[in-house]
Amino acid sequence: MAAKGNVTIHSDECKGCGLCVESCPPKKLHLADELNQYGVHPAEYNGEGCTGCGICFYCCPEPGAITVYKATATSGALPKEGKGPGTQNREVDYATVV
Ligand code: SF4
Ligand code: SF4
Repeated sequence: MAAKGNVTIHSDECKGCGLCVESCPPKKLHLADELNQYGVHPAEYNGEGCTGCGICFYCCPEPGAITVYKATATSGALPKEGKGPGTQNREVDYATVV
């Protein structure tokens, strides 16, 4: 099954406040063990399970720290999980949503 969303966190823009970690509904973010250039533990994506909801972006006080991507089918409507023909192995790309 293709991922619904993706998120990138620019660690050197992050102040390590943890608001995104707390706000992520499926709890797919955490604070890194390592420090960034400002000496704080930046947020990191767990690597899977992001839904592309954008909540982390709206909670983040640093405008450049988070980019969220929502999966979009390369043709046709977004695939609906497990329903109808053509829902398996459909190519998916990502559009920046916030
Ligand atoms: S976009 Fe939503 S699901 Fe993805 S990391 Fe941010 S809060 Fe979590
Ligand atoms: S909300 Fe923004 S500044 Fe705070 S930990 Fe998450 S990415 Fe970093």
